[in-house]
Amino acid sequence: YLFLDCVLVLCLQWTEMKVNNFSAGPSKIPDSVVNQVSKDILEYQNLGYSVLEISHRSKVFEEILSKVKAHLYELLKIPDNFDVFFLQGGATFQNTFIPANKPTLIDNLIFLISGTWGKKTFQDFEKYYNQNPFSIPFNHETYDELITNVYKSDEKYLYITSNETIEGIQIRNFNNFDNKELIIDMSSDICSYVFDWKNISYVYAGAQKNLGIPGVTICISKEGFLEKSNLTSYIDAHNHIDKNSAFNTPPTFSIYVMLKVLEWIADSGGLEKIQLDNSIKAETLYKFLDENSEKFNLSVPKEFRSYSNIVFDFKDSKLTSNFLQSSVNKGFLGLNGHRSIGGVRVSNYNSISIEMVEDLITHLKGFI
Ligand code: PMP
Repeated sequence: YLFLDCVLVLCLQWTEMKVNNFSAGPSKIPDSVVNQVSKDILEYQNLGYSVLEISHRSKVFEEILSKVKAHLYELLKIPDNFDVFFLQGGATFQNTFIPANKPTLIDNLIFLISGTWGKKTFQDFEKYYNQNPFSIPFNHETYDELITNVYKSDEKYLYITSNETIEGIQIRNFNNFDNKELIIDMSSDICSYVFDWKNISYVYAGAQKNLGIPGVTICISKEGFLEKSNLTSYIDAHNHIDKNSAFNTPPTFSIYVMLKVLEWIADSGGLEKIQLDNSIKAETLYKFLDENSEKFNLSVPKEFRSYSNIVFDFKDSKLTSNFLQSSVNKGFLGLNGHRSIGGVRVSNYNSISIEMVEDLITHLKGFI
């Protein structure tokens, strides 16, 4: 009985404890969205059935789909000559989907590898094409030289990962590469800032960081970028574009959740406001870490510090493990760095409030 009492006390403590979820993805969904989704799971729009039960061929789902697309065009200011479509298979499937639908890319592509995800994509492209795309490793010390080399090269396309989720490296200035057409993995920073489409050909992102839950990948393609080739049906981009993302059964629930998140972004003041909030939250945390630089290591140089994933470590490794353990006990979730590099990672996606960041700083203060 004593044991059961202890479990009960712990459960009570847990249920009363405020949870601050800083996970890298799947990640925190805004509270108002979670509330709306739970209502819609019980009954959607007074229809007498759950949002989980909607047919992908119904008018109800068609409406969800067209609203999601309209929000994306509007919030991201996507030009009309771009197609927006949704796939499954996560961002990783794009490593097969893009080369399959763009066979000529191999002769015309430079890869800027700034972290783990870019490297994985590079390796898959290498396998698919059975040869090396030309790659340039990211080096902040010679970044100006890198830009010049990219500029001078003959290749038409440049592949980048706008935000490397594991290392916390973000490339925000696409204009540096304005004589290239960009292919961008935006999985961890899509819809977190406004950008110019002037030199972009293709953008993709899994939804599970800023746009909801796993199961759906957002693909945004400039007309003419994807070529026609003789592919099996699911992998052929034209089937998905021509059939408005319902060539086969799409992930209806993930697309519906994305709609609720997009509505939340629009109601929160749109992307400009979200961008401002993201920079304030990130700069607040970076400032605290910089002010205590005798305690913390931040390996990413200032101009590439990610606003989406803030990666650092304690100089004293014992403090890292104490901090991470204590964080779990206090309801700060998902703060451990990726298993490949360790340390601490704070994912500062759109759903994270400034109060959550301030709570975290208060918690960090206990370790300096
Ligand atoms: N690219 C980036 C930048 C990512 O952060 C991730 C996942 N964290 C991926 C690709 C792989 O995504 P998925 O698991 O959806 O395939």
